[in-house]
Order: sequence, then structure tokens, then C-alpha cells
Amino acid sequence: MDLDLAQLEEIFISMGEAKFRAKQVFMWLHKGVGDFGEMRNLPKTLIEKLRNNFNIHLPQIVKFQESKIDGTRKYLFRLEDGNVIESVFMKYKFGNSICISSQVGCRMGCKFCASTIGGLRRNMTPAEMLGQVLMTEKDTGEKISHIVVMGTGEPFDNYENLSKFLKLVNSKDGLNIGMRNITVSTCGVVPMIENFSKDFPQVNLAISLHQVDDENRSKLMPINKVYPIGELIEACKKYTANTSRRITFEYTLVRGENDTIEHSRALGKLLKGMLCHVNLIPLNEVKETGLKTSNREAVLRFQEGLKSFGIPVTIRREMGDDIDGACGQLRLNGENMQNMK
Ligand code: SAH
Repeated sequence: MDLDLAQLEEIFISMGEAKFRAKQVFMWLHKGVGDFGEMRNLPKTLIEKLRNNFNIHLPQIVKFQESKIDGTRKYLFRLEDGNVIESVFMKYKFGNSICISSQVGCRMGCKFCASTIGGLRRNMTPAEMLGQVLMTEKDTGEKISHIVVMGTGEPFDNYENLSKFLKLVNSKDGLNIGMRNITVSTCGVVPMIENFSKDFPQVNLAISLHQVDDENRSKLMPINKVYPIGELIEACKKYTANTSRRITFEYTLVRGENDTIEHSRALGKLLKGMLCHVNLIPLNEVKETGLKTSNREAVLRFQEGLKSFGIPVTIRREMGDDIDGACGQLRLNGENMQNMK
């Protein structure tokens, strides 16, 4: 399932099989079929041959939780090697969206985020990223139209596998999800931004900013020590010059840390004139961090401050808050999953 159609065709030809069989198998795999026996248009002999030589590894659902507020579902999946990861399925007016994980754990160390608490275990494969989408479609019986790579992990810390996944999920013989319906979020791994602009100019880019000066951003997000704000903004400007695409800046509001009107003005100055949009995320509290969320007045004041600079700004509607399915609440071991169904 890591392979694209051309690679699968090569394998089929080397096995002495007709090339068109590869496409049939590819289409079944991308429907989430877990057994070669279910591939109804294949001859019995080929099914046997495939069974003897290959295994289909789809993530297995360990549990799921459903939000009583908005129908959001959080899944806990077990991967082939026993590691578990989380994904979140969300229903919107424009369609169904899934937030997928790209790594088992994360090594970025952002102070407010639950996903990084146990560190990085390993990268996820393209098949494992795809598997989250396939299994969620299968379980809900619903078509997924949008993907955000905003679950556990830093996608630009696993760029090669991310790239393969994006091509697979966009494949016309597979899920055929449009590049413009996909968003990748990064904490600011600067060199990858340029690669991404060349490789995937149609995919939406979101940047987690969260602070307006280097000293404070480095405290909140260690990646800033490697790629400070100046370099990050420079890379974003270059990205827009290359792609003409609007960037989303995510800004998580933490009480007393980054949510004052002065912060808002500094952010306004930093972003003024850029083709961008700011998405404010009131912090989802994670008990280990001790950090508190901004109150409603502070959030609205911050928003007004940015508007006065002419910057489009929205406040993120938190989905699945009651099941810890919201941003930054996904965890390595799924140990916060209760109310098992
Ligand atoms: N590693 C990527 C994608 C995962 S995080 C990135 O950093 O962008 C998705 C978004 O949720 C990021 O903007 C992240 O900073 C934010 N986030 C993390 N923890 C959060 C929390 N506790 N409350 C609100 N947002 C959080």
C-alpha cells in the first residue's frame, strides 16, 4: 500500500501477471479491502498467489469515542508493529474531514502540546497515513472529502513519506481527494517549505506561529532555536511568490503568554501585507503543561487587534472538545481514551 500504481504494475509484470491486474488490485486496496479474497474481479489462482506472497496491513480500530456535542469521532488505531495512534473524523457543512497523524509521537517539544510528551517513536509510512483515511471511511460508511495533516507528529519531519501519501490519496484510481482539499500544518521546518511549494503547490499550507518574538517563541517551540521567526517569515513570503497561495498562520492563545493586545499588534505588524489568514486557537488545556487558555474577551480583543491591520482572522471552532479530540490533545498511547465503545 506504500506503492503507486506504476510500482505495483512493475511487480505484477515481474510475477508474470497482466499489467491491468495491478490496477484492479490498487483500486481494491484503496477501497480499504483487507483480504485478497474480497477482490471479486480477480481469478482464484491470482488470489491464492497474492495470499501466499503478500499481506494487507490496515490499521486496526482499537476504540473510538464520539462527541456528544458535534458527532466528531476520535479513533485509536493499532499499527502492524503494535504502536497505537489517533485520528479524528469531523463533519462539516462542506463535507467530511479527517485529521490524520503523520508520526508515532513527535520530537518537536512544543510546550503546550500533548502529542510530544512521550517524544518520537517512529515515522509513519505512507500506507499507515492512507490507512487512517480508508479505515475511517469504512467504519463510518461515509466519504471523506478533506484531509488535514494536523494530528500527532510533524509532517515536515517525515517529508518523504508525507509526499508519497499525498500522491496516493490524490490518485484518480484511489480516493481521488483533490490537492486543494488537503492541508498540511508545520511548526516551521523552514527548508521543507520550499520543497513543499515546488512539490505540492496546490496543497494548503498552515504554519504554527504562536509567538511574535524569537525569545518567547523559542521558549514555547524549540524548533524556533533552529529556524527563527525571520527565516520562517522569509520562507513564507517565498512560498507565496512561488505558488500565489494564501498561507494560514495558526496562533494558539495561551493566557498571559501570548494573548495581550500588544502581542496582537506585534503579530499584525509581522504579517501585514502578506497573503495570509490567521486562525486563532484558544488553547486546549493539557494537564501536564500547566498552561491556561485565554478567556473569551482576550480572544476577541486579539482578533480585533489583528483586524485593524487588515489581516483576515477567524477563531477556530473546536470540534470534539469533550473527547480530547481537539488540537494538541492527541496522545501517543491513547491513554486519555475513555468511554470505550
Ligand atoms: N506538527 C504540526 C501539526 C500538528 S499540531 C504543527 O505543529 O503545525 C496542529 C495545531 O494544533 C498546531 O498549530 C499546534 O500548534 C496546535 N496545538 C498543539 N497543541 C495545542 C493545544 N493544546 N491547544 C490548541 N492548539 C494546539
